[in-house]
Amino acid sequence: MDLDIERLEDILSPYFFLKKRKDVVYVSNALALKTGFLKEDIQNFLDTNTSIFCSQGGGGQVVTLPTKGKEAFDCTFTNTRLGDNEIFSFSEKGKSDANRYDQIIPEILLLIMSSYSTGSCLIAEKGHIIHANNTFLSLLGFPISEIIGMQVIEIVSGQSRESFIKGCEDALKAPGRMMPPMELMLTSSSGRQIFVSVIGGWVTCEDRDYLWLMMNDMTETINLMRRLSEEHRRFSELYNLSPIGMLYVNPRGKILDCNDFVSKLTGYSKDEIFGSSFTKFVDPHEEERLREDFWRLFTQSGSIHRHECMLRTKSGESITIEYDVQVITRKNRNIQALMVFSDVTDKRELEIELLEKNAEMEKTLWEMAEVKDALEARAGELNRATEELKVLNEKLSQLSITDGLTEIYNHRHFQDRLSEEVERFHRAKDGVLSLLVIDIDDFKHFNDTYGHQCGDIVLKQLAGILRSNVRSMDILARYGGEEFAVILPNAKAEEAAKVGERICESVRSTPFSFGDGTSVKVTVSIGVGTLTHGQGEKSDLIKKADSALYAAKAKWKDRVEIWEED
Ligand code: GH3
Ligand code: MG
Ligand code: MG
Repeated sequence: MDLDIERLEDILSPYFFLKKRKDVVYVSNALALKTGFLKEDIQNFLDTNTSIFCSQGGGGQVVTLPTKGKEAFDCTFTNTRLGDNEIFSFSEKGKSDANRYDQIIPEILLLIMSSYSTGSCLIAEKGHIIHANNTFLSLLGFPISEIIGMQVIEIVSGQSRESFIKGCEDALKAPGRMMPPMELMLTSSSGRQIFVSVIGGWVTCEDRDYLWLMMNDMTETINLMRRLSEEHRRFSELYNLSPIGMLYVNPRGKILDCNDFVSKLTGYSKDEIFGSSFTKFVDPHEEERLREDFWRLFTQSGSIHRHECMLRTKSGESITIEYDVQVITRKNRNIQALMVFSDVTDKRELEIELLEKNAEMEKTLWEMAEVKDALEARAGELNRATEELKVLNEKLSQLSITDGLTEIYNHRHFQDRLSEEVERFHRAKDGVLSLLVIDIDDFKHFNDTYGHQCGDIVLKQLAGILRSNVRSMDILARYGGEEFAVILPNAKAEEAAKVGERICESVRSTPFSFGDGTSVKVTVSIGVGTLTHGQGEKSDLIKKADSALYAAKAKWKDRVEIWEED
């Protein structure tokens, strides 16, 4: 960078020196005068004070500058890098005097400044601020006492210094000595970076050059722009990384824009897509329908919701998409449509697979239902068979205890029931149990006279008479041949004999008929046996009844005999 060294002291400070690489190449006249130093002295001074001067791009550090034979003085220094050059500028501390400067600033300058009331203004002479308005003070956060006398370069941030100095230099040569408008970064008293737009220039009054600057705080605007660009970045990420396709189409059906997904899915580059018809990758069979859809969209409905169509990619692959389209309106005009779609190829294939699976399952269910019906019918049959078997079983067990001819209990069942009743009799402490043995009189003769068949009819009819003459609790059985027996629980001998008498009488008075008009009289003899006081066994009871019957037969028959001890 070429520097107009002589002018630098107007821009920076009357006290400065310039270093190019390691060498001090220029010492300002004012600094040389003030300190008595020459270039070599400054170089030595730098060599022995490396730690102070090595901070780069800084500002506001306080150093004590020695002098040659004069009093050392405190000042703040700023170093500024300009290409290869490094400028060290100084301002004397404690020399600021706001009033002094105010008085000497020409009225015309102050007038310009006050007319620029909304922004920040400052005026500098020889790089030092000699006037600053309140807006500037509150923007930078310095009190007026500190700002007056400060080097302008001190408040300019490192990254803006080069362009600031360049702007000031250029203004010196420009018509009207006006700076080109520029943007600078300033550093506030708290170190905050403030972005300002600056206009300024040089004025000469009474042979003195003044630099005037007017600034507008752009920090908010910059932050807004940053936020805007961040939003934009996020939007483009969303737009391009999103796994759904987005297309902007104009009313003539031309694609205006699309996101990365569209190009990825269809295999066409964005250059191939932009400007082409929106049906570019639509399957030829679907083209007409889609055109009608879009025509309706712009002329009538304004939106399409969840339509489906087939796309054909550049490599010829078929893709099913589901799409929504919304018309975008500006000032009552439909300017374009936004189409948003997702690839539903896998979803549709899965649905078809599911439908097939469902049909298969339905078929299996039908088959299962048929098997179930058959099983149920079989179960019904089995139930019916079981019921029939139960009835048959009951019949069988009834038959096993019934005498086939007379239909009363048979001998075996008589024995079982008599055993039970004898046991019951034993359990009851003071019980009584009687037995009647009934035998038809002269039956051998009857058979011989009327035949065996008529004998059977008599046996059958006799069973009926016996049944109607015993108590419900009594147990009637065919004892064998033409002999019957009646077990009478809880019946004393006399009570049993009474039943016997009733039977004898009933048989005696009943004419037995055989269906051919003939009828015959029959009699029976009955023996009564009884167990009392819990004494005696089953065989004893039978023996007693038998021997009583024997006694009845011996005494003319057709009678009842109670067992008596011999
Ligand atoms: P009593 O008066 O002494 O008893 O003389 P009775 O002839 O009856 O002699 P008994 O009791 O010994 O006779 C048995 C006869 O009964 C023999 C047989 O002819 C006849 N009888 C036995 N069982 C049957 C049968 O099932 N049907 C027929 N029709 N007769 C039978
Ligand atoms: Mg007999
Ligand atoms: Mg007999």
